[in-house]
Amino acid sequence: MKALVWQGINRVAVETVPDPELLLPTDAVIRVTATAICGSDLHLLDGYVPSMVRGDILGHEFMGEVMEVGSEVRKVKVGDRVIVPFPISCGKCWYCQQGLTSLCDNSNPNAKLAETMWGYSPAGVYGYSHITGGYAGGQAQFARTAFADANLFKVPEGLSDEQVLFLTDIFPTGYMAAENCNIHPGDVVAVLGCGPVGQFTIRSAFLLGAERVIAIDRFPERLEMARLAGAETINYEEESTFEQLKLMTAGRGPDSVVDAVGLEAHGQGLGGVYDAVKQTTRVLESDRPHALRAAIQACRKGGTVSVPGVYGGLADKIPLGAFMNKGLTMKTGQTHVHRYLERLTGHIVRGDVRPEEIITHRLGLDDAPEGYRLFKHKHDGCVKCVLDPWADSTDHAPMRAGAAD
Ligand code: NAD
Ligand code: ZN
Repeated sequence: MKALVWQGINRVAVETVPDPELLLPTDAVIRVTATAICGSDLHLLDGYVPSMVRGDILGHEFMGEVMEVGSEVRKVKVGDRVIVPFPISCGKCWYCQQGLTSLCDNSNPNAKLAETMWGYSPAGVYGYSHITGGYAGGQAQFARTAFADANLFKVPEGLSDEQVLFLTDIFPTGYMAAENCNIHPGDVVAVLGCGPVGQFTIRSAFLLGAERVIAIDRFPERLEMARLAGAETINYEEESTFEQLKLMTAGRGPDSVVDAVGLEAHGQGLGGVYDAVKQTTRVLESDRPHALRAAIQACRKGGTVSVPGVYGGLADKIPLGAFMNKGLTMKTGQTHVHRYLERLTGHIVRGDVRPEEIITHRLGLDDAPEGYRLFKHKHDGCVKCVLDPWADSTDHAPMRAGAAD
């Protein structure tokens, strides 16, 4: 089959690789019909997540049709059309029972490696380095999925691939980021970063009752997309995020601030240079926490900082004094995708949120390296790039593009 593989820092390519097979009786193999490139993939591309190996297949946002199931799979049937949540849940451990599926105790075969770095291991994740399991990803024509009964979620009739694909990650991620803000009626939520995760955070904050959402970025087309969803905006290259947020909230500051940027934040001034230089060593500092610093600084006293943005290792100069003295709460985590699926599917069916509206680029898998380039550099107005693994194949089964209406 064809798959997008990591060849080294800043190098991805489409290669022909062996088809995946069932390895365990709880597995299923799916034929991927749609897959997407995520901001988290950029952290792998750029070499900021340790334990990548040349030849690793990337991709953790994918869906498709079940081709083959192991002997212990009961609920999932060959032919089912499913989405695949990015964190792998065993469905049985204490964490999965609590709905904390991204913290599953049983799905990371390389748990020891993660324990060395983080104390305890989170769940395994598709296409996301060996520290989270070394699972082959879904930017490919086929994919092996683990614990099929606990993970594969059947797509309701009448919904297109593009409507449901983002249930695998970024829609639940934006939703959990907003939920973590503990929104009350009348609240003002500020969202740093208007990439795909920021876009879904904005939409989810309104669903959860925020009165105002203020979105911050520097790319006009991303800010425009935020405005279309009802947000007010700040271009941080034109005005100070802190001063402007203060002004827009009558001096009090937003009730919660979301860091939807993560470890590759764009920095300005001396602080920006400091982190950029330290991060090149990948040892002195692995993460550039500009957005996290800004979130802590800008949040009102007693407010909440919600961090869906990914961090990997060590970050420097976190303003703990501001965090402590202002009595802030911080909530974060890889998303517990499974627990949001029913609820968010309902929002899609009712038309409350139209996930496909953030897609700006549709490419065949062969063009995935170009998709990475456009998405990484935000060229050509790229906000979200969706890949069709069969677009260039004679064995053609086109992605079901567009909304069902
Ligand atoms: P993206 O790169 O498209 O978006 C990041 C946005 O942040 C960009 O628009 C960029 O211009 C903006 N930005 C950069 N520096 C900034 C700054 N200093 N202030 C304000 N905005 C700034 O990526 P994405 O797909 O939206 O993902 C965002 C983050 O969420 C990444 O770290 C990704 O790994 C993470 N993520 C987390 C989860 C999870 O489960 N927690 C899931 C998916 C993605
Ligand atoms: Zn993702």
